[in-house]
Amino acid sequence: MYSESHCHLRGPNKESVLKAEEAGLTLILAAGIDVESSAEAVSVANQHGSVKGCVGIHPWRADTFNPEAIEKLRELSQDPEVVAISEIGLDYVGRRTAEWEFTEEYVDPEIQRTSLREQIALAIERRLPVLVHDRTPTEEVLDILEETGILKIGAAIHGFSKGPDYARRCVEMGVYLSIGKRTIEQGEEHFLEAVRQTPLEWLLTETDSGDPAGVVSVAESIAELKGVSKEEVGRVTTENLKRLVRL
Ligand SMILES: [Zn+2]
Repeated sequence: MYSESHCHLRGPNKESVLKAEEAGLTLILAAGIDVESSAEAVSVANQHGSVKGCVGIHPWRADTFNPEAIEKLRELSQDPEVVAISEIGLDYVGRRTAEWEFTEEYVDPEIQRTSLREQIALAIERRLPVLVHDRTPTEEVLDILEETGILKIGAAIHGFSKGPDYARRCVEMGVYLSIGKRTIEQGEEHFLEAVRQTPLEWLLTETDSGDPAGVVSVAESIAELKGVSKEEVGRVTTENLKRLVRL
């Protein structure tokens, strides 16, 4: 049993979902990055029993955030298959453009913060947890999570990439760390040490891709770091994800 806390399923995706189910995934969360892709995530969730939808505006797309967009997200979030607000967050490193090219010119931080805070307010209103993209040099995201009151409902840092001190503060706050395929393959020592030190009960697995079957290799890597079986990692991280999204 394995689970995917964060992937992007767009266009024809039946094969990748079936492949993931065959690999043992029982729960797959499909995230949105803007209104259009959030609607797609909801539609995919309505086509596959293992897939649940998330709606949200990515910090890379924070320039598309406006009152009309939040109204559309609110409507989409009423769908019974929607279990979280994702992908939201802050990124002061760079962004990908609509053409998916990387640029160091990120969206104005003030706009990113407004987008994040208003989407957290929506999550609180709808009583849905949040999965947060966090690429800032400070602990600003954690401060916002703490201030807004969303922690009573639930939060995870998606694509966790920081070190043990940051991980410890997350666990103290009750924030899950979602461990991504690319980050664990890159294997920065401070990140690996954070994974070793964090109790399995606070970890989730994700690919952040269109191929959720890849979480099995993430579970394998976590298992090696922690000296447990990959099945144990899969079972516990799936229970964690279900607890976070109340399934
Ligand atoms: Zn993502």
